[in-house]
Amino acid sequence: MLKEIEQLLLLQDRDQKIKMFKAQLETIPFEQERLDRSVAAKSSAFDQIRQRSRDVEVQRKMLELDAQSRRDSITKYKTQQYQTRKNDEFQAIGQEIRRFEQEIERIEDHEIELMEQTEQFQKETVYAELELKSAKRQSELQQADLKKKESTLGEHLRQAEIEREQLAQGLDPDLIFQYTRLFAVKGGNAVVPVEHEFCMGCHMKNTSALVHRAKLGREIVHCEQCGRILYHPD
Ligand SMILES: [Zn+2]
Repeated sequence: MLKEIEQLLLLQDRDQKIKMFKAQLETIPFEQERLDRSVAAKSSAFDQIRQRSRDVEVQRKMLELDAQSRRDSITKYKTQQYQTRKNDEFQAIGQEIRRFEQEIERIEDHEIELMEQTEQFQKETVYAELELKSAKRQSELQQADLKKKESTLGEHLRQAEIEREQLAQGLDPDLIFQYTRLFAVKGGNAVVPVEHEFCMGCHMKNTSALVHRAKLGREIVHCEQCGRILYHPD
């Protein structure tokens, strides 16, 4: 095989690795963001349920105050009723007292409902908090893994770039230029084997004469269809 082809194949191997490491490195910020979003969602769910629990508690306390103010009124009315000498006034006060008693009953029923809701919300709050803690723990572990992955990939990338640099030094600049352009436009496949007269890059047939020249390995030969650099595997 032509010495330049051997060099180009090594160069292409490093370039393919560089391309792969870069692509993998590019996904890391997205993964980090995905983890952050997942924790943020759990955190917001926890805040919401805790807020609802607090709202119900505030509502229940207000009802308790309402009930208490009616109880106070009843006490006052009972004193008035005790002091009055007039029968119609006695009756009227009695009606007011009953009206307040009925209101207190309704308020207390509502309070019981809210207490049940509070209990439910408190359970859900505890659950949401556990979920949040677990998501945070998971996220921390995975973030640490991503950091490790990022550093390993960065190391591999630097190594491949150093090797690429060294390999490129031994090659003709014009050939490097041709190869680099092909590598960019042909999806990271610039130097390909020819098998049974077919280019393994575009899978099209080449003339026997061209394939013969590739087989001889004395010069750089390009696919007649796609322009890739061809070599005949020995
Ligand atoms: Zn081709």
